[in-house]
Amino acid sequence: MPLYEYHCNHCDADTEVLQDIEDPPLTECPKCHDHDVHKKISVSSFRLTGTGWYETDFKKGGKCGPKGCGSCCNSD
Ligand SMILES: [Zn+2]
Repeated sequence: MPLYEYHCNHCDADTEVLQDIEDPPLTECPKCHDHDVHKKISVSSFRLTGTGWYETDFKKGGKCGPKGCGSCCNSD
């Protein structure tokens, strides 16, 4: 489950919330109950960009990765 970070402009608190992608975003600060909260960069999307190189390499080498497997991939 992805972790989202929210910042409250009212009390300046940062709140981390575990949410499903389908879950509605946090609209109320759990500390001061103000509605002036907004989502910061989510930890999960940050990780996705960090592993993007792997996905690229993976596609280059076919289904079995960069080295190929000799049966479903051609590794020449
Ligand atoms: Zn607050």
